[in-house]
Amino acid sequence: MKVHFLGTAAFEGIPSLFCQCSTCQQARERGGPNVRSRTSVIIDNVLKVDFPPDTLYHSHRYGIDMNQVQDLLITHSHSDHLYAEDMVIRADGYAQSGNSPMHVYGHDIPLRLCFQALNGYTHKYQFHRVLPFEPMKTQTATIVPLLADHDKQETCLLYYIEKDGKSILYGNDSGWFPEQTWAWLKDRKLDLAILECTTGHSPHRNNHMNVDGVLEAKAWMDANGVLKAGAPVIVTHFSHNARLLHEDLVEIFEPNGMQVAYDGLMVTL
Ligand SMILES: [Zn+2]
Ligand SMILES: [Zn+2]
Ligand SMILES: [Zn+2]
Repeated sequence: MKVHFLGTAAFEGIPSLFCQCSTCQQARERGGPNVRSRTSVIIDNVLKVDFPPDTLYHSHRYGIDMNQVQDLLITHSHSDHLYAEDMVIRADGYAQSGNSPMHVYGHDIPLRLCFQALNGYTHKYQFHRVLPFEPMKTQTATIVPLLADHDKQETCLLYYIEKDGKSILYGNDSGWFPEQTWAWLKDRKLDLAILECTTGHSPHRNNHMNVDGVLEAKAWMDANGVLKAGAPVIVTHFSHNARLLHEDLVEIFEPNGMQVAYDGLMVTL
């Protein structure tokens, strides 16, 4: 199984559009892994998590054929995870493509946003409303949506994804996981965990995970035997406002047995 990190930044991107902070300035100078677009991963080119505004750029940069994507899992409605306006580009009159539908999975608000943006052009999509902790068989995997603590106005989801005998936790945007999510994870054996670290050394871990939250989550996974031997834990979804360059993040997380994602990172399980 191939897990391809297409983008690894939070909402603002790094360097950010209008920002002259020292992190953005240094990211412009250093380039490489310090340049980050909005977060998404694609698995085996057929299952994608989230549809950020950088999806067109990702398809150009990595040669992604979006018509191969059979399952699109949406975590929540924030625009860095769902830029539904661009879903219209698949409709007749905009794209000359096959008619096999892309299956879109999400909770109420993301699906509503898709319907509003598509404004009747829904014929190349099939929508599936998912509920927390209720497993669903998709075209390419079995998924279980898990609860996040990210936005009090919305049911934001993490995803447990089981495909070809491998198990992945897709954990962003999460905040510190709610109790039910920890309890559900206790009985799992993961081949890969993806966690967010948006807020750096900020003392808060609700809405978004900070560094301490990520380290504690990894320690909890180790203590509870949730990770298979050698299973990578990869941190992603970074904000320039955390004031941490890629090199700083590597210094924090690698000694704790975690990898820092960058745009283009490909992991084979
Ligand atoms: Zn986000
Ligand atoms: Zn900045
Ligand atoms: Zn969000």
